[in-house]
Amino acid sequence: MNETDEVLHCRWHPERETMLRCYRCGAPICYECARRTSVGYLCPDCVKAAKRRFERAGIGDLLIGGGLALFFGFIGALIAPHLSWFVIFLAPLYGTLSGNVIWYAVRRRYSERLWWVAAAAFTLPALPGVVSLALGGDPLALVWMLVYLGLALSSIAYLLRLR
Ligand SMILES: [Zn+2]
Ligand SMILES: [Zn+2]
Repeated sequence: MNETDEVLHCRWHPERETMLRCYRCGAPICYECARRTSVGYLCPDCVKAAKRRFERAGIGDLLIGGGLALFFGFIGALIAPHLSWFVIFLAPLYGTLSGNVIWYAVRRRYSERLWWVAAAAFTLPALPGVVSLALGGDPLALVWMLVYLGLALSSIAYLLRLR
């Protein structure tokens, strides 16, 4: 073994050897402790610190995000039933647009709650249509409506949740 192959031991599991370090604080971490992020591995302490920093959307942000999601959900629910299979292309675009507007409206303050509020508010205006289609016996229109909701919501989730 040469000198550059320094053997590290996980700070949380001193009996485990590892080659990983937390990119932020430099603590040695094992694979079980390491949390992979887009910039590198984080130790449990830095993950906690990052969560505290990111979970900072206030009630005002939730109201703004929820209100915008309701608005986009309402417009989407009006348009989607007329699009049939075009929803496959348009719903992700629409979801991306909605998600981006919400994201910038809350000044890019991440919150898990924001996602749930936005998803609920976005879905709500579509529910009467979904129910009436389900009862009215137009299975194809119902399918497109559900495809619309699924695609739009996953685009919004991608923007609001997985950052
Ligand atoms: Zn760390
Ligand atoms: Zn460990």
